[in-house]
Amino acid sequence: MRVSALQEHYDVVVIGGGLVGASFACALQAQAPDGRLRILVTEAVESLQASPSFDARSTALSYGSRKIYEQLGLWQSLAPFATPINRIHVSDRGRFGAVRIDHASMGVEALGYVVENQYLGVVLTAALDKAPGIDFLSPATIAGLTPFSEGMRLQVQHPSGDITEITASLVVLADGGKSTLCEQLGVSFSVNHYDQKAIISNIAFENSHANVAYERFTESGPLAVLPLATLHGEQRGALIWTVSESEADEIMALPESAFVQKLQKRFGHRLGVIHKVGSRAAYPLSLSVAREQARPGLVLLGNVAHTLHPVAGQGLNLALRDAQELAVLLGETRKKGLSLGSMTVLQRYVDTQRRDQDATISFSHYMTQLFSSTNPALVWARKFGLFSIDLIPAFKKTFTRQAMGLAERSIRRA
Ligand SMILES: Cc1cc2nc3c(=O)[nH]c(=O)nc-3n(C[C@H](O)[C@H](O)[C@H](O)COP(=O)(O)OP(=O)(O)OC[C@H]3O[C@@H](n4cnc5c(N)ncnc54)[C@H](O)[C@@H]3O)c2cc1C
Repeated sequence: MRVSALQEHYDVVVIGGGLVGASFACALQAQAPDGRLRILVTEAVESLQASPSFDARSTALSYGSRKIYEQLGLWQSLAPFATPINRIHVSDRGRFGAVRIDHASMGVEALGYVVENQYLGVVLTAALDKAPGIDFLSPATIAGLTPFSEGMRLQVQHPSGDITEITASLVVLADGGKSTLCEQLGVSFSVNHYDQKAIISNIAFENSHANVAYERFTESGPLAVLPLATLHGEQRGALIWTVSESEADEIMALPESAFVQKLQKRFGHRLGVIHKVGSRAAYPLSLSVAREQARPGLVLLGNVAHTLHPVAGQGLNLALRDAQELAVLLGETRKKGLSLGSMTVLQRYVDTQRRDQDATISFSHYMTQLFSSTNPALVWARKFGLFSIDLIPAFKKTFTRQAMGLAERSIRRA
């Protein structure tokens, strides 16, 4: 529920109402539908479009993420905006070898779903607006965080410049990959710059995408076209085109016709002629992992905890599994009457999620290394890798389960 006045104390304050903060708040509220937990979400920007989470991008939600949103009662609202991925086609430009993965062979309705971020924003923000147990304050920035014996003190800065001081037993920091609060708190990161940017845009083309997601590896980086719902009779896809930083600037500056020409050459004609490109945006890419995810009274979630290369479409999917695990654990902790911000509880969360996080981060990182390189040994490994993934069923199943967010024990609570 939107609020303008704050309580003095909350059980949990979520900083950042982006994709991860909003999803987590809904997951936590589902653990305490009777209002046993007092939750506050603070979001810095007022309009959905201004949030980095809900911009012009699209997100490939894994089958595992669908299950999580189903448990939260949100899938019903997301489903009309979700385009199923029935097949994934992974290929290497100019080289032999492709992996084809089909939903029927995995025994699922779809391998994943593509949703435009703006629709995720509409559904998640509506959920925050409606949820009786959640106070949602937007716009407001958390300007300062200080630990004390029973949790955290927060300085909430309103657009007028006024500051309200409140306390929380636990702060869930979900303020994204450029966290100024982490800087203040001295939380450090291990960062690996890929020297690449992802250019994103919605594109329209001649042929039906037939619910196939294309992932194509080119000498300058991976290029994906994810299926989107038709609009005004046009076949559409979400483009995520990874190129070197210098090439990205050149490509971004191209007029539309030259952009389309270059894209067509890189991607080929699997979808026929590409005839329209929407507005473009470029994202610098790095792997950034927080060196500590929890302190007494504080836990990091989403991009602030781990920002991944988008090549394997795993960032949000992993964060949703973290969010669900943390919410369930906090629900159990509250039932036992224990302190939500205790390090014993938060360390249990970190330890539980470690395997999934390590596996997912490695999967994304090595896919990026393998599929962005022109090094002859890696080109050979890639060629052999694609060939073997397609031919060896056990390999293919492992690869697909990781991509679908079903590897490890990701939805054990489903
Ligand atoms: C090109 C691209 C494609 C991607 N595709 C996929 C995909 O297909 N599948 C997938 O799983 N993942 C994908 N991802 C990753 C996914 O987008 C991220 O995991 C996700 O956006 C992380 O959300 P977040 O809420 O942690 O951070 P953010 O989106 O950065 O949101 C943080 C929020 O916190 C707010 N905020 C910041 N500071 C404060 C403050 N001090 N006080 C209050 N509020 C604050 C911000 O306004 C913002 O709304 C992709 C990423 C990129 C770059």
